[in-house]
Amino acid sequence: MGKKQAAAASVRDALRVTPGSESVLLKPGDTPIGPTSKAKATEELAEAGAELAALQEALWAEGTFGGGDRRVLLVLQGMDTSGKGGTIEHVFGLMNPQGVRVASFKKPTPAERRHDFLWRIRKQVPGPGLVGVFDRSHYEDVLVVRVENLVEPPVWEARYQQINDFESELVEQGVAVVKCFLHISAEEQKARLLARLEDPAKRWKYNPDDLIARAKWSQYEQAYAAALGRCSTAVAPWYVVPADRKWYRNWAIARILLETLRDLDPQLPSIDFDLDAELKRLKKNDPLG
Ligand code: AMP
Ligand code: MG
Repeated sequence: MGKKQAAAASVRDALRVTPGSESVLLKPGDTPIGPTSKAKATEELAEAGAELAALQEALWAEGTFGGGDRRVLLVLQGMDTSGKGGTIEHVFGLMNPQGVRVASFKKPTPAERRHDFLWRIRKQVPGPGLVGVFDRSHYEDVLVVRVENLVEPPVWEARYQQINDFESELVEQGVAVVKCFLHISAEEQKARLLARLEDPAKRWKYNPDDLIARAKWSQYEQAYAAALGRCSTAVAPWYVVPADRKWYRNWAIARILLETLRDLDPQLPSIDFDLDAELKRLKKNDPLG
């Protein structure tokens, strides 16, 4: 593939999960498209950032002043230390905080448990003009819940279809739903957990319960494969983001968002005043005489 073609190739096409697939084909260390060095990835991330920021501002203007109802929702899922927080810091940090919303989903509270699993999720869907990100999501209800047997199998089994219905409803309302699985290896997780324990500044991030999930690695692999295969749909696809290298993860997610926003092609609101008249007024209007 020539250089030009490579630059134009779609990251979404390279990382998208085929609907109905039964296993995750990409490996955590793969670089199926894009930069193969940290230096190049960092350079390209900065370039993508400038365009991302401009498109996000246009989307915000369209939704806030232009009456549009379009928005973006990025769902991040992955094992502990896969980089959900790092992605939010490095990719969402490129955009204007005014137009960005972050929601994190932890173990449901007793109040949340009294409702359907989508109740707390619906409340956090970004409003018009916003780019929202979910740090964990409704997918926990077919991941940890399935692995830990927190509900009976027929209950979680029914959720794949409920999730697909919910997401297609969102798409109809103008939400571009983008779902990224941050794919790390068990070895890389061990290194990152060790780093958390060894560095006093990172120690707070360590949770002894992380080792419970880690011990069930292959059960999580199966649960992820099922969620990705069954819930990667034409309207709301899943992407597998190789995440053993942080620079590749950040680059890939920035590019997936960029492609999504370019497709939306947000429109700046049109002005409802006479431009020439306003320019003349301003030039004449000098408060300092
Ligand atoms: P963290 O994101 O590392 O702060 O951890 C949040 C924890 O909450 C993880 O262990 C998740 O598996 C757990 N969690 C999130 N959503 C659910 C859910 N619906 N049911 C059970 N546990 C959940
Ligand atoms: Mg954690």
